[in-house]
Amino acid sequence: MSNQRIDGVRLWDSLMAMARHGATQKGGVRRLTLTTIDKAARDDFRAQCESLGLAVRVDAIGNMFARREGRDPSRLPVLFGSHLDSQPSGGKFDGALGVVAGLEVMRTLNDLGITTEAPLELVNWTDEEGSRFGLSLMGSGTWAGVYPIERSYALTDIEGVTVESALKDIGYQGAEPAAPFPADSYFELHIEQGPILERAGARIGIVTGAQAQVWWDARITGQDAHAGTTPPDARRDALVAAAQIITLVDRLMREHGEDGRGTVGFLKVEPNSRNVIPGEVAFSVEFRHPDSAAIAALARDFPALAAEAIAATGCTLTLTPVLHYDAQPFDAECVALVEAAARRLGQPARRIVSGAGHDAVYVARRMPAAMIFTPCKDGLSHNEAESIEPEEAEAGCQVLFDAVVARANRSLV
Ligand SMILES: [Zn+2]
Repeated sequence: MSNQRIDGVRLWDSLMAMARHGATQKGGVRRLTLTTIDKAARDDFRAQCESLGLAVRVDAIGNMFARREGRDPSRLPVLFGSHLDSQPSGGKFDGALGVVAGLEVMRTLNDLGITTEAPLELVNWTDEEGSRFGLSLMGSGTWAGVYPIERSYALTDIEGVTVESALKDIGYQGAEPAAPFPADSYFELHIEQGPILERAGARIGIVTGAQAQVWWDARITGQDAHAGTTPPDARRDALVAAAQIITLVDRLMREHGEDGRGTVGFLKVEPNSRNVIPGEVAFSVEFRHPDSAAIAALARDFPALAAEAIAATGCTLTLTPVLHYDAQPFDAECVALVEAAARRLGQPARRIVSGAGHDAVYVARRMPAAMIFTPCKDGLSHNEAESIEPEEAEAGCQVLFDAVVARANRSLV
């Protein structure tokens, strides 16, 4: 076990204090990006960073970087952090855990009088959730060059407010360019948002990468007709056809075993009337898998399999591609540091592939990166009831501390 211990009680108090920004009656958090509530959380974060002696910079998309100098000025900074924004009815820990644990890492270093070889930078990424402006991972994606900044600036919320004007309104359109700068690596602590660690009795998830994904918008066209007067051979029921495809998605997922994911999560039936045969159904289709090749094969084969599945229904299918991402493996050396830290902690840990998108996935396109997961109760997230135990937060923060310090002090020869 490390003799450099973070303070679990102080971490928990700090998490509860951050959760007051946008606290909801049901014990959750509503802290939509670039609102006055987000500004209050950002101001609080900045003030805490400055009181710890960190120098805070803000870039043009509002990402915040709080720097602690290292001993060797020639070294590139080790970055770590997450996001302070939340879903409309979000929990206290999604995102906030990684940022507040980062503050605890900085506090502990100050208390112990440790100067790392490399500088450290704690990051708060703008708009991870995508719930206000419709684009997830907006801050880290813009920073990593996945999204041109003009596109991000022009996104609007439901009231027509643009990202750029929202940034100006809360005073967080910074002077720094929103672009990658030379950095050594990035570490992110986050709640798992799924049930795998809890089911396995693991306290730490050593995240080895993020899944590949392929998404479509699907539309099936049949014919509206009277439910009572249309005999079987005259029906072109779009919902019956959609049911074939939903079953196909589930079957293809199961053929990929434990790592398979396949979902139809959205479905719109027209005219959606009790006594009318549905003439039109729009729905979503998505598959995810840790292996890019498995997703590439589904991207190639699914359209023909789907067309075949509905051939007998007399309906027609249109599939519009929405996205196709390859898997993003994390850096083997950074993952090994997380694994070593988890082992030192002496608590049950296991390797896991992230099922959700995270800022670390885009950052990993620009530098070596890794993530640490903590379990969350019943795997529940994006929910006001999202919950973790203080001991879980403490364990995750300790692993973050050990991994970051080991990376910052590693020998470069
Ligand atoms: Zn998150």
